[in-house]
Amino acid sequence: RRFCSRPERTLEGKIALITGAASGIGKATAAKFIANGAKVVIADVNHELGQEAAEELGPDARFTPCDVSKELDVSNAVDFTVSQHGRLDIMFNNAGIACTTPASIVDLDLDRFDRVMAINVRGVVAGIKHASRVMIPNRAGSILCTASVVGILGGMAQLTYSLSKSSVIGIVRSASPELGRHGIRINCISPFAIPTRLVMDEMNHHYTGVGNQRIVDIIHGAGALEGTSCEPIDIANAALYLASDGAKYVSGHNLVVDGGFTVFK
Ligand code: NAD
Repeated sequence: RRFCSRPERTLEGKIALITGAASGIGKATAAKFIANGAKVVIADVNHELGQEAAEELGPDARFTPCDVSKELDVSNAVDFTVSQHGRLDIMFNNAGIACTTPASIVDLDLDRFDRVMAINVRGVVAGIKHASRVMIPNRAGSILCTASVVGILGGMAQLTYSLSKSSVIGIVRSASPELGRHGIRINCISPFAIPTRLVMDEMNHHYTGVGNQRIVDIIHGAGALEGTSCEPIDIANAALYLASDGAKYVSGHNLVVDGGFTVFK
């Protein structure tokens, strides 16, 4: 009977900082973490949406403005979390942007390349650096990052984005041995396509005039699992597991949430 008691709140009392949590995967994860007993700081470059998300998620959510491409912003977001809550247990480096690379590499926009790298790669490294700074003295912590199936498979017209996300997988694998010596785990998640703002903007660029519903159908139709599709909550559930003590011996891992797509490919 004891085993059938209330569902566990696996992050009870934990403090989490999530970048890019004003919408999509980050917001769904913030809601999931709060439902499991955590207090969450939402860090996002979009102030209006970030503030709105914090209000919607209630008193256990706070917003701090942060552009992850600026190291000082990331450092300040970490310090804000510690000043509000006394420590940082979970850092989720989730903020990212897509890159609509032209079909031909000859036309590649290297300024856009630099911007994608500044957010998707440098921003992640800054998040790891500053979270580690406050986690190391506690000899505990869980760091998560959002990679992508595109970082594993690559893809037509995906050169820049693919590089940024395969970099995230490499960064996690490289940081894991050092952080492990301090009792800190680090993992990433590679989601399949989900029609969030980031993807809808990119797809609208590719499929001009097709309409949002048709684009959602295209994304869902590309999946490998019949009868279901990838949603932000699927990534939030993976993040919940990796952040929790249930994953206490999991580090350096890339958890692929793709309904078997990369295997199928
Ligand atoms: P989204 O557009 O809903 O959310 C991205 C959030 O990041 C937004 O709130 C945006 O304001 C924020 N952001 C953008 N630039 C930022 C910056 N410089 N500093 C701080 N915040 C910034 O999209 P999403 O799909 O939830 O994206 C979250 C992560 O998931 C990204 O890293 C993305 O690359 C990754 N991802 C998404 C998919 C997908 O299909 N949606 C698949 C694989 C990986």
